[in-house]
Amino acid sequence: MSTPRRPATSPEPVRTCVGCRGKAPQVELVRVVAADGRLRVDRRAPGRGAWLHARPDCFAAAARRRAFAHALRAEVGAGAVADLGRSLAASAENLADWTVAERWLGDACTSTKG
Ligand SMILES: [Zn+2]
Repeated sequence: MSTPRRPATSPEPVRTCVGCRGKAPQVELVRVVAADGRLRVDRRAPGRGAWLHARPDCFAAAARRRAFAHALRAEVGAGAVADLGRSLAASAENLADWTVAERWLGDACTSTKG
């Protein structure tokens, strides 16, 4: 009756994707942090983090809803979001998918003011 801890049965940490709002194991998501008005992927940085599937649709949904600013409680400009998108695209395997997001980012950057 006095079994203290069973690490073997502890579940994987689960996080909510800021894009699709779906829950997923941490390992399937990337962690986005804000630093000096910019966004970058960093799993170990201290402070708030926004978890995201490294997928164009999740990224675009998060960007559209300004989910990064909300999750990180930081000022996040469209340029910072676009830069994050580019770095995610650069490390993605399915680059074709990202051309769609890139096109959307182009629109967002030119049409978003203030
Ligand atoms: Zn997602």
